Amino acid sequence: MKLFTVGPVEMYDEILEVSGKQLPYFRTPEFSEIMLNVVDKLKKCAKTSDDSQVVVITGSGSASMEAVVSNAFDETDKLLVINGGSFGRRFEQICEIYNIRHDSIKLNRDEELTKEHFSNYENNGYTGLLVNVHETSTGQLYNINIINDFCKRNNMYLVVDAISSFLADDFDMDGNGIDCTIISSQKALSLSPGLSMIIMNKKFYENKVKDKPAKNLYLNINEHIKNIERGQTPNTPAVGIVLELNAMLNKIDAMGIDNYKNMIVERANYFRSKIKEIDRIKLPDFPISNALTPLVFENGGAKDVYNYLKEKYNLIVTPNGGDLAEYILRVGHLGDLKLSDYDELIERMKEVIK
Ligand SMILES: *Cc1c(COP(=O)(O)O)cnc(C)c1O
Repeated sequence: MKLFTVGPVEMYDEILEVSGKQLPYFRTPEFSEIMLNVVDKLKKCAKTSDDSQVVVITGSGSASMEAVVSNAFDETDKLLVINGGSFGRRFEQICEIYNIRHDSIKLNRDEELTKEHFSNYENNGYTGLLVNVHETSTGQLYNINIINDFCKRNNMYLVVDAISSFLADDFDMDGNGIDCTIISSQKALSLSPGLSMIIMNKKFYENKVKDKPAKNLYLNINEHIKNIERGQTPNTPAVGIVLELNAMLNKIDAMGIDNYKNMIVERANYFRSKIKEIDRIKLPDFPISNALTPLVFENGGAKDVYNYLKEKYNLIVTPNGGDLAEYILRVGHLGDLKLSDYDELIERMKEVIK
């Protein structure tokens, strides 16, 4: 089997070695030290200052999305959500459930987010903006500068779900005015699913999270902050994934974050230059992330290609659900993939797309 998905993705051998071992007990100084290394390295990878706070949530990325929105915002807030697909929609749903006022910039699936989209929303009393910087369901990578400028002008907090972009695209939390970043284990970090991380700058943490009444127990960020100071979590964490994360962050640190990213960029560029050989497939016009390439089948047939690759060769690309199932396939560039894997994928795709 070969995964060309966005998560879980092909894991690196050295991480599989870590995940194959007996788990240690975690209420120990040794485990605390590992957790504190994870916290330090995550801040470094996200390019944020040392006084930022990191919490590690056992739960997939959506758990951290819910934790941030529910802990940081309440009925006194008014948020703007960029809804360009199913992950943007998820932010809206969380706002609905926790009764947080919000408006949305809704994009069609082939619509690029531009400055003009924001013009109706200036000086409207918004306190925060929620965005999935790479809307994984369509592949669009939003222009963070446009979003950051709008937030600065309007004095709003900027919350970025970077789950499928972190480590695949350039990311500079402090440099891009991002107050809170959400990431998770199974995308570019290429680990088992089940762990997500929240990075908050000092201002966001102190003004929006600290001392707020608890709205939930498991996702209460303040409880996590109290514990993480000594390298611990309020509940049993996914111990094995924390160990995977520690190993991966050490690997990335040793090779250099840009070199790690550039491996992904190289795969994306390679695949995109080769896919041009297949006429029936188009790429979208909007900017796309290095994490995946969305393939547009204008005349349908995407589902047959997905099934053929899976049934005949055990090559797993990422299908779209619902209305788009016939028209879009996504090919991932995260995880332990080689350029030769893409040669094979393209040859097999040519067999079925004639
Ligand atoms: C994968 C992903 C998530 C998290 O989804 P889970 O199913 O909870 O892991 C959130 N946002 C984006 C943009 C994603 O790509």
